[in-house]
Amino acid sequence: EEVLPLPRATRILTISNQKGGVGKTTTAVNLAAALARSGARVLVIDLDPQGNASTALGVDHRSDQKSVYDVLVADRSLDEVVKPSTEHERLDCVPATIHLAGAEIELVSLVAREQRLRRALDAHLAAMDHPYDYVFIDCPPSLGLLTINAFVAAREVLIPIQCEYYALEGLSQLLSNIELIEKHLNPDLRLSTILLTMYDSRTNLAQQVAQEVRDHFPTQTLSTIIPRSVRVSEAPSYGQSVISYDYASSGSLSYREAAAEIARRGAAEPQESN
Ligand code: ADP
Ligand code: MG
Repeated sequence: EEVLPLPRATRILTISNQKGGVGKTTTAVNLAAALARSGARVLVIDLDPQGNASTALGVDHRSDQKSVYDVLVADRSLDEVVKPSTEHERLDCVPATIHLAGAEIELVSLVAREQRLRRALDAHLAAMDHPYDYVFIDCPPSLGLLTINAFVAAREVLIPIQCEYYALEGLSQLLSNIELIEKHLNPDLRLSTILLTMYDSRTNLAQQVAQEVRDHFPTQTLSTIIPRSVRVSEAPSYGQSVISYDYASSGSLSYREAAAEIARRGAAEPQESN
């Protein structure tokens, strides 16, 4: 396994796109697995009531389990809900249960409703002897209060973009939301990374979409593209990343390369002072 440079401070990335089925969860799980294998300590926070990231990481998220819901709505500390993944010893997960579906509504009447994840995460990281190197937040497909909590807790946004016809539709809404959050709630937030996913090199359309995204976001778009691959879609049903499921597959290779790019970019950047 290639050892990658570690960031000096915890990098907190939210994986967001209000569209469903674009590869958010797949990206969160596989980047986290790749970085953990390469030496980093990684936390995945599952913020989608579906709990797909929890499933893929082999973490119990039945409704009787403590979860991120208890952190957001019942003032539990993250410490009480973090669980080890079955994927790797350096990879932990905060699971989501179906209760989270009600949190969008329940949060509305709570104090500091946009800051609840941030406060819990900052407190957790500050109390750790060896804080995580990376935290990935897997967002639901909406721009509601759960996603806003992720934007406020994170420093970086990673947008997965599916190389298909409607890929860029809705992107301007997402970008203006990020701008609003930066202006009013989290001045540290920036769109750091765009990852092209589910690429089918046989279609002209996929190539056109990829080129269009690169033209719009030349610095943010990773040079690695994730191909469409059956192995990637099979892995979660075995409670695994594609990297443990089929190390040599094209999906595994491309997620490992994407993780390496993210790690090297972070190491090359001037560090924040907070
Ligand atoms: P989201 O979290 O944005 O809703 P998912 O990560 O759950 O999206 O992906 C949607 C579906 O597409 C899932 O069934 C997943 O297994 C599949 N998928 C994701 N990435 C790939 C890929 N590169 N190749 C093939 N299938 C993929
Ligand atoms: Mg998902």
